[in-house]
Amino acid sequence: MVLADRLGRPLASLRLSVTDRCNLRCRYCMPGDDYVWLPRASILSFEEADRLIGVFARLGVRKVRLTGGEPLLRQQLEHLVRLVASRREIADVALTTNGVLLARTAGRLREAGLHRVTVSLDTLKPERFRAFAKSERHADVLAGIAVARQAGFANLKLNTVVIRGFNDDELCDLIEYGRANEAEVRFIEYMDVGGATGWSTDLVVARREILGVLARKYGPAKPATGAKDPAAPADQFVLPDGTRFGIIASTTEPFCRTCDRARLTADGVFYRCLYAEDGLDLRAPLRAGASDEQLAAMITHRWRERTDRGAELRLAVPERGALYQLAALRADPHREMHTRGG
Ligand code: SAM
Ligand code: SF4
Ligand code: SF4
Repeated sequence: MVLADRLGRPLASLRLSVTDRCNLRCRYCMPGDDYVWLPRASILSFEEADRLIGVFARLGVRKVRLTGGEPLLRQQLEHLVRLVASRREIADVALTTNGVLLARTAGRLREAGLHRVTVSLDTLKPERFRAFAKSERHADVLAGIAVARQAGFANLKLNTVVIRGFNDDELCDLIEYGRANEAEVRFIEYMDVGGATGWSTDLVVARREILGVLARKYGPAKPATGAKDPAAPADQFVLPDGTRFGIIASTTEPFCRTCDRARLTADGVFYRCLYAEDGLDLRAPLRAGASDEQLAAMITHRWRERTDRGAELRLAVPERGALYQLAALRADPHREMHTRGG
């Protein structure tokens, strides 16, 4: 029997944040200078994470995405990939990474059974990257993309958060880069969640506007035909020359009604929504010796009660600003995007 929430949404995918640490400081995610980190002893071992994934899989999860923080900061992440990919129920194991460490890890991850990689790439300009992500390592990101392709990751995806006045003049260049590198660009609307303390509506470049910019150069994009997973966040489009790209309109046209995603933080707290105020700690019962059945019962109860529609509800907030300011994030680091996993 399918485990469904109060709005009839199944539990089908899991985003696992494997670490809250990051080697970049993207302004829309980690704009601060210092952070309250999760205590090291609280971080799940790969065996613990895999055991919880096994429990989620019993309840219907078929897709797992490893994220963070920066997941490649976890040493030997390929061990976790191998554990998860060898689970019969899990049909898809994917990774979202900033790409800085990808060149040196892609081969091992591929060999361990990782199916898909998404690399975040907001700009093609090293000086913008320096200003926006506080890093000199833009070339390493581009090298990571190249090596991932060579390692056999077909269908690479590139995530670009579009922010007015920062990178909205690079949309066509990113499309060209994606085409040249056989990678599909997915433009993401800037969201007000987690560490996005500088968020405001005027910085959001909406899907309609993105389509307008691309149409002026390439002609109008058409929605892609073919089977689409209704729960997939990106809407797929095709340019007149056949180039495919995606738009994740998470801010102006949220897709909560079909959201089948659970989130698990690196310290084992289960969230039902990116915006959820509270999570359920699974680490404590896991370490106290709870059985798989007991853990499954806790998750089941929690999912059955789920009514979350975080991004949709935010649409109704008048004079909306960032969801949290720094003090609120410091009070509970689980509210951070880099803790909860994007
Ligand atoms: N560090 C990895 C990376 O950057 O790909 C994985 C974690 S990151 C939190 C996951 C995704 O969330 C990235 O593609 C990032 O661009 C996106 N993200 C972070 N903050 C965001 C925001 N305020 N609005 C929209 N997307 C955001
Ligand atoms: Fe940037 Fe990802 Fe790190 Fe956030 S977690 S600061 S999006 S690289
Ligand atoms: Fe799912 Fe929450 Fe995002 Fe809506 S805001 S799509 S319910 S995670």
